[in-house]
Amino acid sequence: MTKPDLSDNQTIPAFATKFPAPERKRLFISVKTGAKERLELVKWAAENKYDALVFSLGDKCFSAGGFGGGSEYAKLAKQHNFIIEAGGRDFSLLLPKRLFLFHRDLFRMEHGKRKSNHHFCPTNPETTSRIKKRARHLFSRVMAGVTVPRVFHLLPDEGHENTWCACPACRAFNYSEQNLITVNSAADALASIDPNARLSFFDYEMEPEAETGAEPEGRWFPPAGIEARENMFRLAVSSEQ
Ligand SMILES: [Zn+2]
Repeated sequence: MTKPDLSDNQTIPAFATKFPAPERKRLFISVKTGAKERLELVKWAAENKYDALVFSLGDKCFSAGGFGGGSEYAKLAKQHNFIIEAGGRDFSLLLPKRLFLFHRDLFRMEHGKRKSNHHFCPTNPETTSRIKKRARHLFSRVMAGVTVPRVFHLLPDEGHENTWCACPACRAFNYSEQNLITVNSAADALASIDPNARLSFFDYEMEPEAETGAEPEGRWFPPAGIEARENMFRLAVSSEQ
């Protein structure tokens, strides 16, 4: 069988650095992928020896209080004993864009103006408090459908990994740190629901200079002054087109 179109889906290997990662070959399945295409992807993942299928925290496959709601692709995934994980490029679910109208300070600043697209202002305590609450709701919703021991992922918007807040308070933190502040808040929420669950965060140390296309010196990124929570692990992200 030929490889299905993966343009909306990503294959992401685990990569452990400081935090040991659950070693799994994962296929991230986009929320936009239809049921028929999902069935093809599950077949393809089985033939290519994938371990885990990852669905968005907002995916309908979790809405039945379990996984799949009796769909064909879910049945096939169960037959092949796929591990089900949740999350991915889900930052936009953490802070609803409708808040922008009355709560601009929660959002990202660029050239002195607040912007509702991509991420938010993570040093505003109101932002992290809302993210924590929202993450708790999102994790709880999918809990029953995720394979135990549970693994979740929260990765920045694709292609905008370096699009973060430039407000006076956030300027003290690089984008790796701003990302960590955000995921840490969600990790606190996760630990309060399931202390054994793990949450991945985007591995900025593996990211080449996407903006300029230039190879960074020694692929080194200044160490973040912010520490990741103990229930988190780094994930190297590679997009397969
Ligand atoms: Zn800010």
